[in-house]
Amino acid sequence: MRELLIDRKKCTSCEVCLSACPFGALSLQGNGVVVGDQCNLCGACVDECPEGALVMSGERKDVDVSDWQGIWVFVEHADGEMAGVVGELLSEAKRMAQRAGYEVSAVLAGSGVGHLVDQVTARGADRVYLVDHERLAAMHEETYADLLATMVRRYRPSVFLFGATVRGRSLAPRLAARLGTGLTADCTELDMESSGRLIQTRPAFGGNIMAPIVCPNHRPQMATVRPRILRADPPDPDREAEVIDLSGEMEVAEARTVLLEAAQEEGEGVKIEDADVIVAGGRGLGSPEGFDALRDLARTLGGAVGASRPVVDSGWIPYPHQVGQTGKTVSPTVYIACGISGAVQHLAGMRSSDIIIAINRNPEAPIFKIATYGLVGDVFKIISHLKDEVEKARDGEGG
Ligand SMILES: Cc1cc2nc3c(=O)[nH]c(=O)nc-3n(C[C@H](O)[C@H](O)[C@H](O)COP(=O)(O)OP(=O)(O)OC[C@H]3O[C@@H](n4cnc5c(N)ncnc54)[C@H](O)[C@@H]3O)c2cc1C
Repeated sequence: MRELLIDRKKCTSCEVCLSACPFGALSLQGNGVVVGDQCNLCGACVDECPEGALVMSGERKDVDVSDWQGIWVFVEHADGEMAGVVGELLSEAKRMAQRAGYEVSAVLAGSGVGHLVDQVTARGADRVYLVDHERLAAMHEETYADLLATMVRRYRPSVFLFGATVRGRSLAPRLAARLGTGLTADCTELDMESSGRLIQTRPAFGGNIMAPIVCPNHRPQMATVRPRILRADPPDPDREAEVIDLSGEMEVAEARTVLLEAAQEEGEGVKIEDADVIVAGGRGLGSPEGFDALRDLARTLGGAVGASRPVVDSGWIPYPHQVGQTGKTVSPTVYIACGISGAVQHLAGMRSSDIIIAINRNPEAPIFKIATYGLVGDVFKIISHLKDEVEKARDGEGG
């Protein structure tokens, strides 16, 4: 942890640091200079002190970035199955690795996970670091972060990527803090320069700008990436990878916490992140009952029900259905937006859908700007009509 320390033997109470501090955080009291709560550890006073009496402890040192090579992808898995985002990350890592002359490694840790080696290889890994240990059966972030930190220090990857899933979002920051490096959370785009510098793009300022972020002086360059944003290549079963089995060798610490119970996420029907068709509703539905018509249509189409944030906040439908910047990112074949205006924060979660059908009574609604097909009119009349037509077509009575 960084902390501003004052060497009382060197401090002459000259007050130079008081005027150097842009936050007015330093003051002169009985026993010399005192650091107040406003200090944000910017270090301006350290540079100005003529006596060298101010020191920033825990200062992070720049690293020699040329020592750090390759791209690592963390293999998230549950119930013996690899998370979908891993294939997306490995595919993107493969594309970027070619630019920098890097290799792609998958980091596969867990208990009884050996069967996933072939899957990550087919998805693009040139090397698989395997740690199979019973203490890794449950996802204790502390245990995983300790293990991964040891591996990173030993093998020095230039880049380490995680899915921006519940687990990835919890594990990656712990690891970054242990390693004293940066982390860009929730990226929507990645790119790599031939030098190996990772360009990590994510929405900033409420989604109004896309900010490219770099980590120039520390390694590894760490990022979490939202699922279903990057393109996953089809698996290639003929690929081969070097497997480095560290199972017997790596020390796996015992967790200080105990997993008592794993609860199923609250939500109805098909999960939006797995659905090919999503029928999503917004404030234009008028009430929680408005969702009944959407559920009907979703059932008819074999799809899932999505929602905008205000209707989730109002308790019309639970959070797992929320699409957008603070909800889930989805990329279905068909996204039907019903009574949703098309705020940037909503679009951030669904704009990569293949076909977007917008239903809104306001022809000026921003959602129409990104819609493949726009239907202007009352949402309930249009949904009911759509449902009838789908059923007719299915029964062979329609076109
Ligand atoms: C930091 C931050 C994060 C956010 N994250 C998210 C997020 O993850 N997801 C998200 O969705 N929002 C998010 N928001 C909120 C976002 O800014 C918008 O307020 C929200 O998306 C609007 O929801 P809506 O389209 O349902 O409602 P409104 O903007 O009120 O739109 C309702 C629409 O329904 C139409 N309508 C009304 N009645 C009918 C009818 N009978 N038939 C047809 N059309 C009708 C209206 O013309 C209107 O266009 C976030 C905001 C902030 C500041």
